[in-house]
Amino acid sequence: MDAALSVRRSLEMDLRTALTDGSLHMVYQPQVNRENKVVAVEALLRWSHPLRGAIAPDVFVPIAEECGLILLLGEFVLRRVFEETRDWTQFRIAVNVSAVQMRSPGFAPLLMRLAAQAGINPLNYELELTETALLGDDPVTRGNFDALTRLGFSIALDDFGTGYSSLSLLQRFKVSKIKIDRSFIACLGEGEGADALVGAVVKLARAFRLGVIGEGVETEAQRQRLMECGCNEFQGYLCGQPMTALQLLTTHEALFVQRGSVRRRA
Ligand code: C2E
Ligand code: CA
Ligand code: CA
Repeated sequence: MDAALSVRRSLEMDLRTALTDGSLHMVYQPQVNRENKVVAVEALLRWSHPLRGAIAPDVFVPIAEECGLILLLGEFVLRRVFEETRDWTQFRIAVNVSAVQMRSPGFAPLLMRLAAQAGINPLNYELELTETALLGDDPVTRGNFDALTRLGFSIALDDFGTGYSSLSLLQRFKVSKIKIDRSFIACLGEGEGADALVGAVVKLARAFRLGVIGEGVETEAQRQRLMECGCNEFQGYLCGQPMTALQLLTTHEALFVQRGSVRRRA
């Protein structure tokens, strides 16, 4: 336990340094439709630790949340994403936002400032929140949510199905999209349970007039099952790996050139 605690402490300190030493960068994973056309990308944070190598966000984001660094880390992410993607008007850009950021009173004003500084259009951006971020009807979260949607940002419910998936949550918060968690996609075709659940979530999304996307799609069979359930958008290794802005521009050059504006800033 002592060893684990000391690794954690040292990661915490290194993360502070990482905010300024260039070891953090963003990658972007495509979200595609039935025709395999990129309709959005999700921005994902990467940390190349100078000694320990790549550290997964599943490891360092919770540490940042616990030690209070997530506000600075979240600001870094938003700044960097806006900077790298401001010319990408051909598809939406999704950014992960922590529950801690939503509970911070200055979050919506900060986003407004960063958006204005970068000159981005909030209508092109989607903020991904987990269900737990919206539970409890915390008044600060509610204020941030309303201010951000008024500014034009859309909100997607991430990891749907793993939290409380409460219907009243969908009634209380005007989210625009549900992301079906990859644990359900992984079980598709392995029994009736997962298929029924995914089918039910797609119907739920329809009833609420929301978009719906399947996450963690790794096989053609999973994509087929999702389509049979009525789901028309997919994200996962089958449809595209997370890649840097430059790799995305190169891999999907036709998409960028076809619709105009490309500025190679990455
Ligand atoms: P998430 O938001 O659910 O992101 C999707 C994760 O699934 C990503 O892991 C992605 O690389 C991975 N993934 C994509 N396709 C597949 C697939 O086909 N199969 C499998 N098994 N996995 C797939 P990643 O990048 O390691 O991120 C893990 C989590 O860390 C994210 O889960 C998100 O909760 C958090 N995270 C990442 N970037 C940020 C960020 O900028 N801010 C915040 N607050 N959290 C972040
Ligand atoms: Ca996400
Ligand atoms: Ca997710």
